[in-house]
Amino acid sequence: MALGSLLPDLSLRPLVESLAEHAVTKPDARAFTFVDYSSDRDGAKRTLTWGEAWRSSQATAAALRRIAEPGERAALLLPQSLEYLIAMCGAFASQIVAVPLFSPDLPGNADRLIRAYSDAEPAVIVTLSSALPYVEKFLDEHDVPRPRGIILADEIDPALGEGWELPELSPNDLAYLQYTSGSTSSPAGVEITHGGFAANARQLWRSWDPPEIETCEAVTWLPLFHDMGLITALALPLVNGNHVILADPMSFLMRPIRWMRLLSECPNVYTAGPNFAYDYVAGQANEKSLAGIDLSGVNVCLNGAEPIRPSTLKAFNDAFTPAGLRPGVLRPAYGLAEATVFVSGSFVTNPDPMAPAKLLGVDRETLTQGRIVPFDGDAESAGDRAQYLVSCGAPQGQLVAIVDPETLCEQPDGTVGEIWVHGPNVGRGYWGNSERSAETFNAVIKDARDIPVDGWMRTGDFGAAHDGELYVTGRIKDLIIVDGRNHYPQDIEVTAEEASPAIRPDYVAAFAIPGEETERLVVVAERNRRVPIARLDLAEVERTVRARVNQVHEMSIHEFVLIEPGSLSRTSSGKVARAATRARYLEGDLVRTSDRLSR
Ligand code: ATP
Ligand code: MG
Repeated sequence: MALGSLLPDLSLRPLVESLAEHAVTKPDARAFTFVDYSSDRDGAKRTLTWGEAWRSSQATAAALRRIAEPGERAALLLPQSLEYLIAMCGAFASQIVAVPLFSPDLPGNADRLIRAYSDAEPAVIVTLSSALPYVEKFLDEHDVPRPRGIILADEIDPALGEGWELPELSPNDLAYLQYTSGSTSSPAGVEITHGGFAANARQLWRSWDPPEIETCEAVTWLPLFHDMGLITALALPLVNGNHVILADPMSFLMRPIRWMRLLSECPNVYTAGPNFAYDYVAGQANEKSLAGIDLSGVNVCLNGAEPIRPSTLKAFNDAFTPAGLRPGVLRPAYGLAEATVFVSGSFVTNPDPMAPAKLLGVDRETLTQGRIVPFDGDAESAGDRAQYLVSCGAPQGQLVAIVDPETLCEQPDGTVGEIWVHGPNVGRGYWGNSERSAETFNAVIKDARDIPVDGWMRTGDFGAAHDGELYVTGRIKDLIIVDGRNHYPQDIEVTAEEASPAIRPDYVAAFAIPGEETERLVVVAERNRRVPIARLDLAEVERTVRARVNQVHEMSIHEFVLIEPGSLSRTSSGKVARAATRARYLEGDLVRTSDRLSR
């Protein structure tokens, strides 16, 4: 049974038209506020009203069209800023395809930038005057296409936009290219249309349906080049003209409690983040850091973009319910760039803000055989035999089907299969890759009954439907198949990190390498800085991890590698990059702690 339903009345009207409208209906209301912690520890705020936001977007549109034609691409190579949001809107208003990327000085992402930038072949770059030297260096040092012009977003003449009229836009027109995180392979540019962008924002509002939409504000520090960051900070607010408070990801990483402080300033607010962020901020909560913080106005903390850990849900609620956070507002959700971002969320099936996220205790052994079977008995006291899966609720305005990737037939409830998505929010294809696009975006369900036969998007993720809710089990590409049993790396990673304090939590990669008869498991883990290297007994750490993985997952580790802090590969959005770690392992390129000890 497919989950969700299509909503025939869901409007696909381009959101940039709403922007122009807000500028007329509420010109002086706050639209976008940027909180700058780099100049002021407490955050210096700068705000644009809807009137100002639209006028700046008009000027940007005119500036873009002096250089490029409709359908050509504008690469956004600027840091997190108000200008970033305006550059997106300006591109929308000029029919130039935005490519939300980042300033080349963002550490650790050079390769991703080169690939995505080259793939998009932009005619024009938008940046800030402060970032121009990095952009020039980027163009000089790499073999990448030269743009015809560079626009400094902070120096655009406002008069340029006078009289700029919004062109007639169709929901099928391309709005931007969303490059995926690159967790499994090279980032691909998903073609997002104006209709898809609008549909996804409206699906989210409909799924969540907060009590007072008009006054709802957003707080976000998520990178704007990431799908979830862009929808949170731009698509959602454009629908109804809500106020957004934006910060730089770095300001959060330096002092995570700032996130909670910003939320505390708002009486009716939503936010979003990946699981690690909730874990990280929960670890910083104490009586002192929580002084004066009131989280009773928080409506939604969307948790998506990576596997959700039950332990994080608990840690976050334990940390912040004393500050007034309602236990049900931390909302597990599932999504991906190929669907604009949002697919399904727990608010659909569990709207009560007081009811914590739903966990399902399942039998660990049957899960390795591709079925989710609720644990027979008390899962909590069953120890290693039970495993908890987090419900990601259900979709609304789109469909999710669980399909066997081999037979292409729909799977019954409780059977693990590939998650397939159908809806107006699904991207048009991958930019410049028609072969991969056809495989991913135009899949056919063989035995479709009461659901469309074709036009399905294959997510590459495994999951199962159970009692009308979606449970995501993990990526197909990452699956580790040993002796005919399927293991998900994130489960093994949790077991490994919990086995020894010498391992840095959330910095473990488990993957398979080919073996003679069956695949072999390799676990690479970062050393926890808190455990002094002088006191480290490497052999003991390895023994403990091996024993624990053996006990919980009934499989043996072929090789365990402890590596130095900060050396595990991650994507630009902070996910563990297993494929990249595997490649480095195979090339002998890991920064092994044993090498440091033997020096
Ligand atoms: P690439 O496609 O380049 O390998 P990516 O898939 O990480 O990168 P995104 O589109 O940003 O790029 O991330 C979507 C993916 O994140 C999903 O396909 C899924 O694997 C994972 N994900 C998202 N939400 C969840 C969730 N709730 N539980 C488990 N995994 C999730
Ligand atoms: Mg992906």
